[in-house]
Amino acid sequence: MLCEMCGKQSEFTKTISVEGTTLKVCKECSRFGESSEGKGGGSKKGTAAAPSRTVVAERLQARERRMKTRSIYSEEETTDLIPEYPQAIREARMARDWKQEDLAAKLNERVSVIAKLENGSMRPSDTLLKKLEHELGVKLTEKISVVKSEGGRSQGKVLTLGDMIKKK
Ligand SMILES: [Zn+2]
Repeated sequence: MLCEMCGKQSEFTKTISVEGTTLKVCKECSRFGESSEGKGGGSKKGTAAAPSRTVVAERLQARERRMKTRSIYSEEETTDLIPEYPQAIREARMARDWKQEDLAAKLNERVSVIAKLENGSMRPSDTLLKKLEHELGVKLTEKISVVKSEGGRSQGKVLTLGDMIKKK
């Protein structure tokens, strides 16, 4: 069995309660909490002084860290501009029978901005993106999951871009 406090392998585990949490711990750690099985055992030897709360807290923190580092990669979801936004804007605009000038006027932008967006030489700002989606009634963003490596530990494997970004 693994000690739930220090994480060491231990044949002997004891169930104790530490600050309201029940843990199965090894012999060494069992002195950090109250035994939840049987009597309290009031008179202990004076040598084993009761550990301070800090020691207990540190042990618990170390345990938490261990649990976290078990999963090396975490996924984070984010929204990003779709790569084909120039065509999407152009198509949505033409579907409405609007000229670049018409769209520019609706967005209160210059025509050159619309032209740049449609030839892909300019990415819209977040504000402009919202306005574009609203006026054209199209979605120009997509959700992507970015797989992040925690702690920068090399796993002896180089991640390709395909590994890093997974399309939903
Ligand atoms: Zn232990």
